[in-house]
Parts: sequence; C-alpha cells; structure tokens
Amino acid sequence: MSSEPENELASVIASVRELLRWEETLGGTGFPTPEAASPLEIPPGGPRAYEGDEDTAARLQVLADEAAECTRCELSRGRTRSVFARGTPDTDLVFVGEGPGFHEDQQGLPFVGRAGQLLDRMIAAMGYGRDGVYICNVVKCRPPENRTPLPTEAEACAHYLVPQLDLVRPKAIVALGRCAAENLNVVPPAGRWRGIWGEWRGIPVMPTYHPAFLLRSPQFKKPVWEDLQEVLRVLNREAPKRGR
Ligand code: URA
Repeated sequence: MSSEPENELASVIASVRELLRWEETLGGTGFPTPEAASPLEIPPGGPRAYEGDEDTAARLQVLADEAAECTRCELSRGRTRSVFARGTPDTDLVFVGEGPGFHEDQQGLPFVGRAGQLLDRMIAAMGYGRDGVYICNVVKCRPPENRTPLPTEAEACAHYLVPQLDLVRPKAIVALGRCAAENLNVVPPAGRWRGIWGEWRGIPVMPTYHPAFLLRSPQFKKPVWEDLQEVLRVLNREAPKRGR
C-alpha cells in the first residue's frame, strides 16, 4: 500500500501545529504577554530618549524637537503632541506605520493603542524585545478621525521621515499598510503589494498589512507572519521557538 495518505496526514498535522503556534503567538490564547500589553509610562521631560550612538541620537532629537513645533501642514492644528518614534535607533529593523491615532496623539508615542499591542506581539514573535526595534510613522501628527494622511501631508512630513530613516539606516524596513508602502515607494503599479520586497534608498522594504487591519481581519495574520519570517531570513535571524 502506498504511504501517500500517511504523508498527507503528517503534512496536515504539521500545518495545524504551525497554525496553532501562529495563533498562540499573535493573539490567540495565552497572549498578549503581560509585558507587551502593559501601559507605557512616559518618562519625565518627554517620551524621547534614544540610546543609539550619540551623534545619531542627537540628530534624531533635533528632528524630533523640530517636529514637536512643526506647522508644515494642517495636521499640526489638531495635534495634542507630535509623535516622532519609539524604540532604539541602534537596530537592524524599523517599522513604519501610517500616522498617530488617539492614544498616540495623547502620549506622544507611536503604536500604543490596540494595534500597537498587536504590533508588540508581532515584534516579540520575531524575537526582538519591545524596544529592540525602531517604530515611526509616515506623518507625525494625528489625522482627523484617523483618516489616511493626504499626499500633501505625507509630503510635508517627508521632511522628517526621510532623514529619520537615513539616520537609523536599518538593514530592513517593514512598511505597515498600504499608506506606508506607498510613501516608501514600494507599491507596484498593479497587482499584489504585500509580501513583495521593495527598496527605499538602498534599504530592503517589506510591505505588509497594518496591525489595525489585522484586528478587524485576523484571517490575514498568517500571510503577515510569512512576510515577517521573510524579513527574519534576510536579517539572518530566526523566530524563537515557542514551547510546544
Ligand atoms: N496606526 C499607525 O499607523 N500608527 C500609529 O502610531 C498607531 C496606529
């Protein structure tokens, strides 16, 4: 008798195991870890304290200070605080999102709401500490009603994003959502855009779905995990094995 059915069964079991591992890792039972989901504390004197090399940190701080006073576009009128970045510039991996939402605008830090908690779990699943990567947005001020930033707003804020990414110069960038991917110029003119490597000023960019979209459509977590694993491959890293 052929061993095909057994092989098929083994392959199904392996797929189910992988799916369960994925579910557990990114928001199924057992997650979030208390550490990843704990509320952020804003240090006295503001949220920005970089630990990269001094020159890079100082230059980023100059940009962040400028962004805090920026009036280059209308978004500045509605902001409580500008949202420059979180994490460390001394990293090989940067995540770029779209723009601050309500919680980010209040706290002055990117990705601190529900989408941010999911992003933290994704980062942990990749084997990084919560602050072991650098996270920023296309625009630094909250768009009204969390709408997608207008091209003119994104263009005005490129004044910050371009030098910011140039200073950090990671080995890879993950563009979270189509807006980030478009503003890093990695969306092909037609067809699929997620999961296809692009390049921004010599840095590989992996466009993938935004965590806020994943909260609404969790069935897309799997392709996103595949994209993140592809990023790890390029960075010569492996996702930590979770206890089975
Ligand atoms: N969504 C984003 O794109 N950025 C944030 O900082 C928060 C939510």
